[in-house]
Amino acid sequence: MSPILTDPPPLAADPSDGVAILEQRGSTAETFGIPLAVLAELTHRCPLQCPYCSNPLELERASSELTTAEWKKVLSELAEIGVLQIHFSGGEPTARKDLVELVQHASDVGLYSNLITSAVLLTRDRLAALAEAGLCHVQISFQGNEPVVADRVAGLKDAHRKKIEVAHWTRELDLPLTVNAVMHRQNLHQLGDIIEMAVELDADRLEVANVQYYGWALKNRAALMPTLQQIEDTTAIVEAAQKRLKGILAIDYVIPDYYALRPKKCMGGWGRQFFNISPTGKVLPCHAAETITGLDFESVRGNHSIAWIWQNSEAFNRYRGTGWMPEPCQSCDYKEIDFGGCRCQAFALTGDAGNTDPACALSPLHEQIFKLAETEASGDTSRFIYRNFSGGTPEPDDAQDA
Ligand code: SF4
Ligand code: SF4
Repeated sequence: MSPILTDPPPLAADPSDGVAILEQRGSTAETFGIPLAVLAELTHRCPLQCPYCSNPLELERASSELTTAEWKKVLSELAEIGVLQIHFSGGEPTARKDLVELVQHASDVGLYSNLITSAVLLTRDRLAALAEAGLCHVQISFQGNEPVVADRVAGLKDAHRKKIEVAHWTRELDLPLTVNAVMHRQNLHQLGDIIEMAVELDADRLEVANVQYYGWALKNRAALMPTLQQIEDTTAIVEAAQKRLKGILAIDYVIPDYYALRPKKCMGGWGRQFFNISPTGKVLPCHAAETITGLDFESVRGNHSIAWIWQNSEAFNRYRGTGWMPEPCQSCDYKEIDFGGCRCQAFALTGDAGNTDPACALSPLHEQIFKLAETEASGDTSRFIYRNFSGGTPEPDDAQDA
């Protein structure tokens, strides 16, 4: 699809003052203080093959990952500049042999650490070692509430049983647990049972996240997109459970952009509240930002500090604030509420990250894209393309009958 709106003006050749750049653009926003929490994507390696994985289509190989010493330096620097929490993620962070050492280092420099994991590589001894090293919280992703659907979505046999086992160990070791359930057309019918499963596992929190469609999920959109009816049913189930389980289980809920009239305030706004560090050390405004071609992201391996990258780098200032916005965003009352939605989604669906997110009903492209998604939701495509290092593998014919 060709872009229909104009690019923002180019940055000065040598950006050295983030605020000056934004003022030059007529932005009403300022640069922001370092976020309190940062996501460290330690690796893209993962034994699972989820068709909605938020990692980029081109995954980074182990040979280019930051070394243990480089990650330790990053953790120390983050603590020094005021970050309080580190989320160890991936890929599958437990695929890194040095995870206990990194968690210990995070504890030593005063960071609160959270492990976001598929859990299937963990043993009880390793989880105990992580707890001993100061790990503060565990978040386990589930693909369903029973093995038939869950293992098929994960593309890995016996994954669900293993996750349940690790969730029990987590609570036995007195670590707080969050259950993360990514929902789509092929598992939404299990939502009520997933909520009960989270209660039985003694989780503190359940994140019910509908798939967001870029990267691998966009490649699999026809097999994943829920129907409007499913979303209405889901919202009712979640709202009833939130009331019923108040004080027992906190439930967070994210509806898919395609069924909202306004887009989500993606990452709290580009460069306002969040950054993550990729396996090779790139500092990114969101975990999908590398899907946007034509943006250069600075690396912790380069000459600049993380604080400088956050404040001054071209990639962070490109879509920061409001000065870059085209119409209809520029004259819209919501522009400082949703900051124009998601840049990755705008790029994925319109070919230009500087366009209004087409999830917004005011976008000139909304109707056309929404209609296509609606048609896909009522179609009969169910075969996944599994996420892997070779660019994706179609699900075998017999797997869909499992
Ligand atoms: S979404 Fe699935 S495949 Fe992607 S990193 Fe997480 S567990 Fe692995
Ligand atoms: S037009 Fe832009 S600012 Fe207004 S609601 Fe839509 S995305 Fe948000």
